Amino acid sequence: MPVTLPPLPYATDALEPHYSKENVELHHGKHHNAYVVKLNELKPDATDAGLLAIVKSSDGAIFNQSAQIWNHTFFWQSMKPKGGGKPSGALAAAIDRDFGSYDNFRKEFINGGMTQFGSGWVWLVNDGGKLKVVKTGNADTPVKGAAVPIITADVWEHAYYPTFKNLRQKFLETFLDNLVNWDFAAANFK
Ligand code: MN
Repeated sequence: MPVTLPPLPYATDALEPHYSKENVELHHGKHHNAYVVKLNELKPDATDAGLLAIVKSSDGAIFNQSAQIWNHTFFWQSMKPKGGGKPSGALAAAIDRDFGSYDNFRKEFINGGMTQFGSGWVWLVNDGGKLKVVKTGNADTPVKGAAVPIITADVWEHAYYPTFKNLRQKFLETFLDNLVNWDFAAANFK
């Protein structure tokens, strides 16, 4: 079996009005899918089960395609209909401990996404028991190293242009306030 495009965890219009159906269809159906098609061309023996191992062990074109597949799948899971707002439980306590407050975390996450010049990603990660905001360029991903991703927002222009045009900050604010899936985050934090 080649690598396949993972289905979305919700309908294409489920994130409306915060992230448009057109944006989801273009981003998942065209951009995410293009990485799947390209990786299968470059590495015909790649499989879904082996994807993470390819990300961790490859470089160059195969790394770029495989990491973008993994990052996008993680991004779709990082959002949900009626998401957003503040987390609860152990994750909320850890955010308060490591950022001082949720509001400080929110500022740092948005700033991380805003200061990633050009294409890339902003992440909340668990780095050896401490929560951190990190940004990565192009296809780069924390799973190449030891940090465990908790959530991510895609800051490639294709991620937000159909809904937000050039307003990356508005996208990042909306991601945290209306879209982020703290249940997924809490599961990754365990
Ligand atoms: Mn993308």
